[in-house]
Amino acid sequence: MNFHVITLFPEVCKSYTDASILGRAQQTNKGKGAKTKGKKITVAYYNPRDFSNNKHKKVDDRPYGGGPGMVMMAEPILKAWQKAVGRKTLAISQKKVKTLIMSPRGKTFDQAMAKKFANQYDHIVLISGRYEGIDGRVKKALKAQEVSVGDYVLTGGELPALTIIDSVSRHVPGVLGTHDSLEDDRVTSGETYTRPDVLEYKKKKYKVPQVLLDGNHADIENWRSGTK
Ligand code: SAH
Repeated sequence: MNFHVITLFPEVCKSYTDASILGRAQQTNKGKGAKTKGKKITVAYYNPRDFSNNKHKKVDDRPYGGGPGMVMMAEPILKAWQKAVGRKTLAISQKKVKTLIMSPRGKTFDQAMAKKFANQYDHIVLISGRYEGIDGRVKKALKAQEVSVGDYVLTGGELPALTIIDSVSRHVPGVLGTHDSLEDDRVTSGETYTRPDVLEYKKKKYKVPQVLLDGNHADIENWRSGTK
């Protein structure tokens, strides 16, 4: 799976995608006895500023019809998209491309979408807005889908883009250590506990549910599916 993020703040996003599980998934696994060798995911960043014709590297302008704030101009974003997954960049056969625009007006992202994106596409382009949003023609020109991460407004699309990359990656085979870590049809795997089995905090004792200590796997599964 190849992610392409169009953002004015690539460095903010990169520190997240280079850490932990997502970081590991971008490395080739050369270890002895490694079952799989290739990179599981790639994450590339494109800054619209690098595609601006303007000598001041301007990427935003005032909205037509008036109103507060600035709007991200279409052209630098379209050029960044061409560079990422345009005809000249990708071989036609590779072109299972999905383009997503981060927007509070979009369809709300969920686990089913994460799974579908992971199964159906090789390349996902995530366009991250700032200010008052992105010129509406970007969506039409790229046949993109608007996606929201929830019913609230953020200052930018970087966190939504990272949220999508993170949850889609978990569905890419080999990204998680053991396939069992994936929740499959459940949205979560239930409450989890680790040592110690009795935790003391402010003179109170907090115990791990007994069923988890008893070692009966059927009972444990049953208990877990009841604690979603
Ligand atoms: N006034 C604008 C809000 C812009 S917020 C409007 O009504 O659309 C600035 C940018 O943050 C947006 O372009 C979008 O890319 C991102 N963003 C904010 N909230 C979001 C959400 N809930 N889901 C996805 N992207 C969001």
